[in-house]
Amino acid sequence: MVTAFLVVGSCLLSCRNNSPSDLPSFSGQRSFEYLQKQVSFGPRVPGTDNGAICRKYFREFLGNLGARIDMVSFLHIDKITGKEIPMINIIAHFRGKDANANTYLFAAHYDSRPRAEYDPDSTKRNMPIDGANDGASGIAVLMELANLISVKPPRANIDFALLDGEDWGLPGDHDEYFLGSKEFIKRSIKEKYKFVIVIDMIGDSDLKIYREEYSSRYSLELTNLIWNKAKKLGVNAFVDSIGYAILDDHISFMTIGLPSAVIIDFNYPYWHTTSDTPDKCSPKSLEAVGRVLTAIIYEL
Ligand SMILES: [Zn+2]
Repeated sequence: MVTAFLVVGSCLLSCRNNSPSDLPSFSGQRSFEYLQKQVSFGPRVPGTDNGAICRKYFREFLGNLGARIDMVSFLHIDKITGKEIPMINIIAHFRGKDANANTYLFAAHYDSRPRAEYDPDSTKRNMPIDGANDGASGIAVLMELANLISVKPPRANIDFALLDGEDWGLPGDHDEYFLGSKEFIKRSIKEKYKFVIVIDMIGDSDLKIYREEYSSRYSLELTNLIWNKAKKLGVNAFVDSIGYAILDDHISFMTIGLPSAVIIDFNYPYWHTTSDTPDKCSPKSLEAVGRVLTAIIYEL
């Protein structure tokens, strides 16, 4: 699997340069409210009512901004229980100003984990998590980006994928993770997108985002674009060295040869615990990531 990843485009970008003052202003506060709202529905575990209510909220939000929306349903058969778990990816399409421009994908998962296996309190380890950072933070940034591009469309076409089933499996059982992105790559998307940026766990109040190893190794041009942009904007939460190797939805896109990178701060003490709640996250952190992505989107 690994060597197949070397097929990476060499011409991702046309590199327009906007000065920061030309860019729409990404509101960390508004994005944080979207994070709180998601958590207010309760854990968004696949197949639950909470998940369905949250999806309705996303659909209305994105539809009101003028996106064309695909709700893509699929069934996952859980390896252990044999139960069929209904899952749904939400894909929102925003047309750019130039009909002939390329299309780029920004993705995050909205499901939250059905169990808190690393909770310090062993009696809570079978409880579902709120996933304020692990789940809601990435979507909260996509939602604010959607606000910006609905008001001021960029040149390129931008799609957002709100993916289900990223965090389903038991630790180490990789077949049971990244289910939404594994489903999405079956839909002939390699020709459609020029690259994919995945964001996950980017709300931590103590934000430090290192380069992720697989992203740097197999999608170096895209990874350079992100970290160079952060440097140029003076967003110090992005640290320009490799900090960890993470399996996340970006790996699914890599398996079909799409340049793909994940933006993630994996040093989060509340990971997969019932303490992954909004008070551990901050508007400032969402804004740091949002500013970098805004600058990238408007130069595509
Ligand atoms: Zn997780």
